[in-house]
Amino acid sequence: MPSAREWLEKIRALPLPARVRLMNVCGGHERSISMAGLRKALPSQIELIPGPGCPVCVCPEQDIYQAIQMALHEDIVLVTFGDMLRVPVNVGKRTIRSLEQAKAAGADVRPIASPLEAVTIARAEAQKTVVFFAAGFETTCAPVAGMIAEGIPENLLLLMSGRLTWPAVAMLLESEQPGFDALIAPGHVATVMGPEEWQFVVDKHGIPAAIAGFTPDSLLAATYSVLRQLIEERPFLDNCYPRAVRPGGNHLARQCLETRMEVVDAPWRGIGIIPASGFELRPAFADHNARTRFPDFAEDARRHAGEMPPGCDCARVVLGKITPTECRLYETACTPRNPVGPCMVSDEGACRIWWAAGVRKSRDAA
Ligand code: SF4
Repeated sequence: MPSAREWLEKIRALPLPARVRLMNVCGGHERSISMAGLRKALPSQIELIPGPGCPVCVCPEQDIYQAIQMALHEDIVLVTFGDMLRVPVNVGKRTIRSLEQAKAAGADVRPIASPLEAVTIARAEAQKTVVFFAAGFETTCAPVAGMIAEGIPENLLLLMSGRLTWPAVAMLLESEQPGFDALIAPGHVATVMGPEEWQFVVDKHGIPAAIAGFTPDSLLAATYSVLRQLIEERPFLDNCYPRAVRPGGNHLARQCLETRMEVVDAPWRGIGIIPASGFELRPAFADHNARTRFPDFAEDARRHAGEMPPGCDCARVVLGKITPTECRLYETACTPRNPVGPCMVSDEGACRIWWAAGVRKSRDAA
């Protein structure tokens, strides 16, 4: 396998078109690209566009609002991945607008790093109900399904906000302006679900695609692949992460997902409903579904559907329509210390990543 430097040399030697836009759909990819400074290292004709790769960023307002209300009004412990704590919902300034604020107001909200921690907390708090607010893509939902398969404590409920990655890409490709010429597909999702999920990009849309791992050399290998495909007008799905991505994916993980979760139409923050893009617990596990157990907040939560803070451009950043620095709030009203939207909160959000990489409006892109 060539080194990152060698891949760069191979890319620079290609007869590139005047402009070529490559989209990634993974916060891990975006972090590696930004931290390694690949945008500056690549020829200027190549635009690397961060797309819908952050599950916290696409988690709809109503789900976060519902989690906040459950934490505030029910005698529960609410656990969730740490990134979710600071994501604000669009409510009045005097109203509790994040799980972090709910915790400060006395709710028992705890950050966790893995589904197993939710099980540990539920066992330790056997007298209480523990609600696991689980937002994530396939790579998170599969371990959650595995946790259920192993048998979870009776007092552990799930508030699922799981999403599939590919339907958002399909929605973009089916729109009039997809905004990209080739796709760098996410290696971890393909490891779980199989590379075949991304074949539609080539077969249906004629767009070059390559699955990449998370190191600069793997990302550059995928970049080189899609550029060659474009130049030679010979699109195919290239697996540039073969040591982890195998045909069919991880059969056990997929079986856990298929038997414990059902795929449903689901709302994406600021974007709307994308058909067949969400994971929800199967009816057989209704006893562990927090939405079934605590239905009182659903109607109130629904009223917050589609609400974004004024000026927040997170939805357009998530869809790759603008870069983080093109949001007028970037660096002015919105910073990691004072985030307006989820893209500045989550470690997988493009705005947060660009900020961490030192990108400021007054300077060049990362
Ligand atoms: S700068 Fe803030 S408001 Fe603008 S897109 Fe990024 S996170 Fe959203």
